[in-house]
Amino acid sequence: MTESPILCSIDLDAPGKQVGQLQVPRSSNMAGWSNQYVPIVSIAGGDGPTAVVLGGVHGDEPEGQIAALNLLRRLEPAQVHGRLIVIPCVSMDASLEYSRLWPSGANMNRSFPGSPDGSPDEQLAHFLSTEVFPRSEIVVDMHALEFMAASCFTELVAWLTRLQELEPDDRYRIRFRSNPTILWQKRSLRALSCFDTDIVTIESS
Ligand SMILES: [Zn+2]
Repeated sequence: MTESPILCSIDLDAPGKQVGQLQVPRSSNMAGWSNQYVPIVSIAGGDGPTAVVLGGVHGDEPEGQIAALNLLRRLEPAQVHGRLIVIPCVSMDASLEYSRLWPSGANMNRSFPGSPDGSPDEQLAHFLSTEVFPRSEIVVDMHALEFMAASCFTELVAWLTRLQELEPDDRYRIRFRSNPTILWQKRSLRALSCFDTDIVTIESS
């Protein structure tokens, strides 16, 4: 298989706190041969498992990116039993434009497992799939919900809360049919299902 064209400026297996970047080759309107630089931080403090935290797979979802940045700023190796690898802005070019998709139109969340010979998003996905994820016991990929667009979301949460107050015998499952053409609805319902997997199931129509 072709070797990954992505360069990582830090040694992911070294101890201590390292701040570096992934160099992702891509063309832009400014230059045919240029790179997207994706920040990557490793915080390793002795024996233990490895966790990977991803933010900004979608560039228009700032909450996870801010949370990941705060995490890597505050955490020191002495506080970690094992290793934490944080990539706070996976889709850096999309984050810079506050855009869900990459400037190429790629949806990074659909780029996995990726390919070393593919488009830049696929190359990055391949690097994560082959170099980062295999090192880790857990991967946390933080996304966000369009609360402002999902005006009925709070209504649904209130409903779910009332349902949870019922005796277990009185509970029943809620099955939502999501409409893929209504983006916010699909995303909101999926987020809702994460809150209570025992009650909510989502069907794609
Ligand atoms: Zn997302």
